[in-house]
Amino acid sequence: MKVIVLGAGIIGTASAWFLHRAGHDVTVVDRQSGVAQETSFANGCQISVSHAEPWSNPAAPLKLLKWLGREDAPLLYRFRAEWLQWKWGMQFLRECTAARTAANIRQIVALSEYSRQILQSLRADSGIDYDCATRGILHFYTDEREFARAQQVAALIRSLGCQRTPISAADAVGIEPALSGMRDKIVGADFTATDESGDVHKFTTGLAAKATQGGVTFAFNTMVTRLLTEGTGASSRITGIEVIDANGWHRQLHADAFVVALGSFSAALLRPLGIELMIYPGKGYSATYTVAAPQAAPHVSLTDDGCKLVISRLGNRLRVAGTCEFNGYTRELNRARCEAITRRTRELFPHACDYENPVYWAGLRPMTPSNVPYIGKTRFHNLYLNTGHGTLGWTMGCGAGSAIATIVSGGRPDVDFRFIGFPHR
Ligand SMILES: Cc1cc2nc3c(=O)[nH]c(=O)nc-3n(C[C@H](O)[C@H](O)[C@H](O)COP(=O)(O)OP(=O)(O)OC[C@H]3O[C@@H](n4cnc5c(N)ncnc54)[C@H](O)[C@@H]3O)c2cc1C
Repeated sequence: MKVIVLGAGIIGTASAWFLHRAGHDVTVVDRQSGVAQETSFANGCQISVSHAEPWSNPAAPLKLLKWLGREDAPLLYRFRAEWLQWKWGMQFLRECTAARTAANIRQIVALSEYSRQILQSLRADSGIDYDCATRGILHFYTDEREFARAQQVAALIRSLGCQRTPISAADAVGIEPALSGMRDKIVGADFTATDESGDVHKFTTGLAAKATQGGVTFAFNTMVTRLLTEGTGASSRITGIEVIDANGWHRQLHADAFVVALGSFSAALLRPLGIELMIYPGKGYSATYTVAAPQAAPHVSLTDDGCKLVISRLGNRLRVAGTCEFNGYTRELNRARCEAITRRTRELFPHACDYENPVYWAGLRPMTPSNVPYIGKTRFHNLYLNTGHGTLGWTMGCGAGSAIATIVSGGRPDVDFRFIGFPHR
């Protein structure tokens, strides 16, 4: 079958890889000049299966209220005259009950666990170098109440088969000596030895290179303007896509099946077809520093709960990422938010990095209210979704790619996840 994948982030590229492996003739279309140039470019780099709690959780509404209007708040909702933002916000609040949070965690952990296994075997088979570190993730807390609350979530996540172990501050510093300066401020931590980290952009670029060698076509600088449809009811299908190609001409591309993996831009493209996706951009920031003193910089990937930052060592670079701002599709940098990241990183590891020359970046997480992505079929029998992976697109990416390839090929993936268009198990 000829398949067009829309979007060449981690999700589109992984989809293309597995579709090609399933025997399909695959073309990937993206408006950028290469793969992983948007949200999959400079994220936090964690494969965090065991830290999969969505932002919509019982503690979120109060925190959001407390942080309203604070420029450096970890999670900031800026009210806009935008129907999607308000509707999305209402659904986000609905997902904050304990029961819904638990159900969402089950979904996210199942897909993430499946994805990590696939990433590991892909890494072993392909030899792609992406500054991968398999030293676990250490999540540390500086607030007693937050640590106590997190233990309920940790218990649920353990019951799903993850090895998330609560440890003392002394043990945390034993695992990551670069945290020794924080010894008196840390009240406790969770360690998951099986979690990983690695550069998503390097991985996606390496995977795309291998896919190209194998025969996948990438059409870059190509903007998708609309989907072309025919038929009604059960016989409705997509006949092609309209694009503006690299030379500026409008053209039509045709295929037997289409996979939408456009991250935060998926909802707008599908709305004219009557497909209403609750995906809203959650802008996040990262700072990348050159490591100046290798022993003073962390080797284990970290989550700083108090500041909602994740920290990953990528060879001689340190990537620090986090915070979220619901404020439309703008990717402009807010100085206060950038400086808050550098201030905190310097406080944690004063001598580790060159803090005078940080490289800042902002990207748009494709957020669903529950943080559970849309993966599966639509009412158009040859149109498929792989989008809305929110805070965990790198963690879920390979699994989501493998799953959509199975679905397009007519099967059901062997993972306990609510795929769209399939009866619940
Ligand atoms: C600060 C930050 C930290 C993060 N940290 C982590 C982490 O530690 N671990 C983790 O698992 N996840 C993390 N994430 C989330 C993760 O980065 C995303 O979930 C993931 O990158 C989404 O991938 P995607 O392929 O869906 O989207 P994208 O990477 O954005 O890809 C979508 C592609 O579609 C293309 N496109 C869009 N519209 C069109 C159009 N009309 N025509 C043609 N092409 C189009 C874009 O150019 C883009 O290449 C983080 C995100 C941020 C912002």
